[in-house]
Amino acid sequence: MVEYPHRRLNILTNEWVLVSPHRTKRPWQGQVEKIPAEILPEYDPLCYLCPGNERAGGHRNPNYNSTFVFENDFAALIPVEQPEITEGTPFFQSKPEFGKCLVVCFSPRHDLTVPEMDLEMITRVIKAWANASAELSTIPQIKYVQVFENKGAVMGCSNPHPHSQIWSQSELPNEVDKELKSQQEYFSKNNHLLLLDYLEEERKSKERILFSNDSFSALIPWWAVWPFETLVLAHRAVPNLAALNEKEIRDLAEIYQKLTICYDNLFEISFPYSMGFHQAPNDGTPHPEWVLHAHFYPPLLRSATIRKFMVGYELLAMPQRDVTAESAAERLRGLPGIHYKKRNQP
Ligand SMILES: [Zn+2]
Ligand SMILES: [Zn+2]
Repeated sequence: MVEYPHRRLNILTNEWVLVSPHRTKRPWQGQVEKIPAEILPEYDPLCYLCPGNERAGGHRNPNYNSTFVFENDFAALIPVEQPEITEGTPFFQSKPEFGKCLVVCFSPRHDLTVPEMDLEMITRVIKAWANASAELSTIPQIKYVQVFENKGAVMGCSNPHPHSQIWSQSELPNEVDKELKSQQEYFSKNNHLLLLDYLEEERKSKERILFSNDSFSALIPWWAVWPFETLVLAHRAVPNLAALNEKEIRDLAEIYQKLTICYDNLFEISFPYSMGFHQAPNDGTPHPEWVLHAHFYPPLLRSATIRKFMVGYELLAMPQRDVTAESAAERLRGLPGIHYKKRNQP
């Protein structure tokens, strides 16, 4: 792999990333610091996500014992039609946005993150996402459903109780719009699927593949911006979570577990990230070009305390990385498959 500065194309967004591998010839010689693990209780009487506790506006959580889905009390989008505002000038454009936001608690356990959950529990989380997404998709105004998880305070997660969010809306968000155009363009030109063809090449080269099972692969994409950014790709043209069969849901749970264990083991901490699924638009037309996938964007670079910031050049010019996708993949592949907390148990 080249050792000099170069650009790589993100085929999904059609945007370039600057790669400068010469800046870190020996990227892992820096000191690897560890921060003491935060010990969380199984139940926190002050947590608004724990079973039986009170939330905002006088709502009380049921004594749930599996996943728990509720409408966000501080939703960014609301299911109320808004009037169109016309300014009569192209300089002040705006459009009303209709939507509905849900919160999905992974389990009653305040302290149990995905990498520490068993496969059964993770499978239930994926089914909760699939069911909630399908239900939101029946609302006529809803054109897109975004499932995402922010893990860790460094990613702006305000409550450590493991949970995710689902925002659904009446227009396509920017990233999805870009990815739709790229996939549609490739499909109409080649009569093949962009992400399936890409996956085939990645599986031939093996350099950036972390692991695969029958239905999904996890890999560091060629165009990764974040140090340990990962793409989880379905092996067939499946448009959304609700279209996965039982076996595929189980396989996705396995990949999600393996990847997050890998992440936690990297610096032996609860590894922060933002992750989310890109599902096909729910716009009433078939999407034969779309392949369901998830992006994981972890901010940490060299240790538990050194994170990558998107500042300066990246805000003003373009994203840039020092460590190549290939060396990040090699590093993650070399980690043990058992969670460090379980390994360190006497
Ligand atoms: Zn809690
Ligand atoms: Zn995507």
